[in-house]
Amino acid sequence: MRIKILGSAAGGGFPQWNCNCRNCESLRAGTFAGKSRTQTQVAISSDDRTWFLLNTSPDLRTQIEATPVLHPQNAGRDSPISAVLLTSGDVDQIAGLLSLRELQPFRVYCTASIQRILQEDNSVFRMLNRAADQVLWTEISSDGNFTLLTMAGKDSGISCAAFSLGARYPAYVSQERTASLKSEDALLGVIVTSSAGGRLAHMPAVPAVDESLLQRLEDADLLLFDGTFWSDDELIRVQGSGSTAREMGHIPVSGAEGSLRKLAGLRRPRKVFVHVNNTNPMLDESGPEYREVRAAGWEVAEDGWGFDL
Ligand SMILES: [Zn+2]
Repeated sequence: MRIKILGSAAGGGFPQWNCNCRNCESLRAGTFAGKSRTQTQVAISSDDRTWFLLNTSPDLRTQIEATPVLHPQNAGRDSPISAVLLTSGDVDQIAGLLSLRELQPFRVYCTASIQRILQEDNSVFRMLNRAADQVLWTEISSDGNFTLLTMAGKDSGISCAAFSLGARYPAYVSQERTASLKSEDALLGVIVTSSAGGRLAHMPAVPAVDESLLQRLEDADLLLFDGTFWSDDELIRVQGSGSTAREMGHIPVSGAEGSLRKLAGLRRPRKVFVHVNNTNPMLDESGPEYREVRAAGWEVAEDGWGFDL
């Protein structure tokens, strides 16, 4: 299975349009010891011809253009992208769906609750179903296994195990709507397995790490994990107010209860942080936070990275 990191930043990207934090400011000034990043986007394939997107970032159009295997391969209108798997309704996971309009058929795998939010409450997504043979919505359970199918209905050789990671819906979902939805549908983690046996665990948003999550991750080959914030009060310190990392549904990287410590016992997977917020000091490759992450055996994903499992 081939895995491509098309984007690795959290919502807003790096730099973020309205941010002048130390990272964003010095990146713009050309003095930052690190790389710019688009918003987190992953693509996977078992045959290098048919591709599946894990979520759809707001930067998807430029990410596709930067990735030749995702360009049309045949004359006329065509795309190697067969399907999209959505793990939440967050804007930075779904906004790219709007870049996939233009009457192109593909599948969308998501929970029934996310489908209702997108199709019933947000009429702009009707652009995906203007024609009868356009987007095929496939409901998945928040606790179950399914196989990714090509648009033609062929088994891709990639199977997925989904599990619930949290009960928090995005702020744009009304309280009335939230009350009618299953809480376990709000946020999924997925373990993706190729027919050859390679296992990818993808979880760009993780509110907390418990024993059952650790067990699920033990036999993964590659872990793409929530690296949004270094510390719980990071945004408050930059903005002067706001929410903590945990209140926003992200376990911080550092600290006694952070992901570095919590996942330190995982021996098998290659451990890579994705969804890194522009304020996170571990983006600075000359700084102590970056050194601490690398010394702990973790990597900080960059746009354009690829893996073969
Ligand atoms: Zn910033």
